[in-house]
Amino acid sequence: MESTLKRYFGYSQFRPYQKEIIEMVLDGRDCLAVMATGSGKSLCYQIPPLVKKKTAVVISPLLSLMQDQVMSLNQRGIKADYLGSTQKDSTVQCNAESGRFDILYMTPEKACSISPRFWSNLSKAGICLLAVDEAHCISEWGHDFRKEYKQLDALREHLVDVPFIGLTATATEKVRQDILRSLKMTDPYIAVGSFDRNNLFYGVKSFARGMAFVDELVNEISKNVATSGSTIIYCTTVKDAEQIFKSLESAGIRAGLYHGQMGSKAREESHRSFIRDDLHVMVATIAFGMGIDKPNIRCVIHYGCPKSLESYYQGSGRCGRDGLASICWLYYTRSDFAKADFYCAEADTVKQRQAIMESYMAAQRYCLLTTCRRRFLLEYFGEKLTFTKCGNCDNCTSSKMERDMSREALLLLTCIRSCGGHWGLNMPIDILRGSRSKRIVDNNFDKLPSHGIGKDYPPNWWKALAEQLIAHGTHKDLYIIIFAFFSLSPTGQQFLHSSITVDQPQLILTVTNEMVDEEEHR
Ligand code: ADP
Ligand code: ZN
Repeated sequence: MESTLKRYFGYSQFRPYQKEIIEMVLDGRDCLAVMATGSGKSLCYQIPPLVKKKTAVVISPLLSLMQDQVMSLNQRGIKADYLGSTQKDSTVQCNAESGRFDILYMTPEKACSISPRFWSNLSKAGICLLAVDEAHCISEWGHDFRKEYKQLDALREHLVDVPFIGLTATATEKVRQDILRSLKMTDPYIAVGSFDRNNLFYGVKSFARGMAFVDELVNEISKNVATSGSTIIYCTTVKDAEQIFKSLESAGIRAGLYHGQMGSKAREESHRSFIRDDLHVMVATIAFGMGIDKPNIRCVIHYGCPKSLESYYQGSGRCGRDGLASICWLYYTRSDFAKADFYCAEADTVKQRQAIMESYMAAQRYCLLTTCRRRFLLEYFGEKLTFTKCGNCDNCTSSKMERDMSREALLLLTCIRSCGGHWGLNMPIDILRGSRSKRIVDNNFDKLPSHGIGKDYPPNWWKALAEQLIAHGTHKDLYIIIFAFFSLSPTGQQFLHSSITVDQPQLILTVTNEMVDEEEHR
């Protein structure tokens, strides 16, 4: 194993879990490898065929990904090709059946539709493993469910006694269980690596949508392009991506664009220029995804709240693969949070809808967090931690104050309750600030005892407080429940109740940077 690693890949040591997994696979045992992006999962299925001199079949979701892998394997003297692009499939298939390849990539569609004879011929020629890359695509709980992946269990019939190995960077327990079930794994060896990427700095900033902010962002980037490596800016919509791309271009920054509405030629060209360092910045949607193995990405910016932490972690994980210090910024705006419904439209079943909603709520909580971001992310992925503060995220490095804000919380929560769960956040804040707008007068909200009682703080201060009340505690303990309308959670109701009946309970909250600014300017 070690000599194969050295000979073909030039590395002298295995990384954590690589050796164990390879040994298990060589032994014929099913494996599940849950390891962070960039941790070296591919080697786990690339080494066994070279050791055993039998073919490894690898199921991979994207043609472009397979092409890149095949190219780089061929350069190392490893015989590899892929099936799934109609034109040259029959030749490749023929060669595969006579055992010509060390590694044969396939799309899941191809794997499920190819004739049983292919599998029996390949088995005769010798097949040492079947790897399912990006295995989380099997699970409806994953962030990238693909129907074709669900049918892969049928391959077991054709490949008796061939070990299956599932590989993914998505670590939630639900997804793992789904993968094991769907791939019919019996007594598998499960390797869960640490997800901590300690060279990455995590930070979050809130922003207001509009050209002013785009200009600010472009300015920030142009300051850094000269000194730093590449940057990726992930946008939540094609429109945002195009807008930022244009602004970067007109600022003279070498930028590329990549999204699902572009033709495949244009996308490939963009991708290649970025890999070759012809571009400094790639502005993209999540279509610019799997298989970006570029070591010197120094910064990944998410422009808008991503739809799940899985997708955030994958996206941000593309930076700093060389181990050098790198930065992950997330910019969110409060209006993003109303997008859950938009994402839910993709769901076919109630279960999928629930999964999408849960994922999105977790991403929101990450945005609003006032404690260590790394800790939150790693715990979300089920990792047991030995630290409370990482020292390398915005919340750990900023010198934050804390203060008892029970009085202010009481005012806001009372006012939200008075609105009866029929309004967004602006209404209770307008009431607190004493507005006499038509909709306030029409609803008699100007007669409420809380009307005008919160003039001391500007609207954004109250919004920042609301964010903290939303983020506070565990998922079930939110003080406020938000969907389109704001209403009180049981925790919020209990807080109000005890404020009236007993001494006012303390509620220590963080004074965020935004709150400090607003307090200074009021
Ligand atoms: P993943 O699939 O887990 O995202 P990759 O398999 O693409 O990660 O590997 C990421 C990078 O790490 C690649 O450039 C790969 O060549 C390199 N790598 C993998 N294993 C080792 C090793 N044992 N020693 C040094 N580098 C390695
Ligand atoms: Zn931290």
